[in-house]
Amino acid sequence: MKLTNHVKINLPAVVGNEGFARAAVAAFCTPLSPSLEEINDIKTAVSEAVTNVIAHAYPERSGEAEVEVAIYDDKVITITVTDEGIGFADVNQAKKPFYTTKSAEEHSGMGFTIMEAFMDELEVRSEPGRGTRVTMRKAIKQHA
Ligand code: ADP
Ligand code: MG
Repeated sequence: MKLTNHVKINLPAVVGNEGFARAAVAAFCTPLSPSLEEINDIKTAVSEAVTNVIAHAYPERSGEAEVEVAIYDDKVITITVTDEGIGFADVNQAKKPFYTTKSAEEHSGMGFTIMEAFMDELEVRSEPGRGTRVTMRKAIKQHA
């Protein structure tokens, strides 16, 4: 696979920046002519990943989220969302539907489940005290 385009965005993990991240990623993917459904899937997945950094990664200090988008062969999109926050030990537990460490009123525990459903692949790596990296991949179909 040939890397045909890429961009890296660093932004403070503060409420509101998830909106910019999702719009920026969507704009970057527009030249691939994704369907409305595909672009909405990508926007939702990016939103969930960046919202997690904002909500969970830095409970006691400020920090940043890095969003990296790579496009391969003008059709496969890889999105990586990285933080250097508190991380977590059990990735399988965190990915379970309805699992949340926050109050149920605020957080549904469905973030990773949504990312998994809306993208072709999801990989989560996390290390307590070091941070978290979420990698998502989606192939844009050819539309007639
Ligand atoms: P929710 O955000 O609604 O709690 P998610 O499925 O998005 O549900 O995430 C599950 C749990 O994984 C969170 O409650 C949190 O404990 C942990 N988590 C997710 N992303 C991060 C992150 N970037 N840094 C630290 N913890 C995280
Ligand atoms: Mg979440």
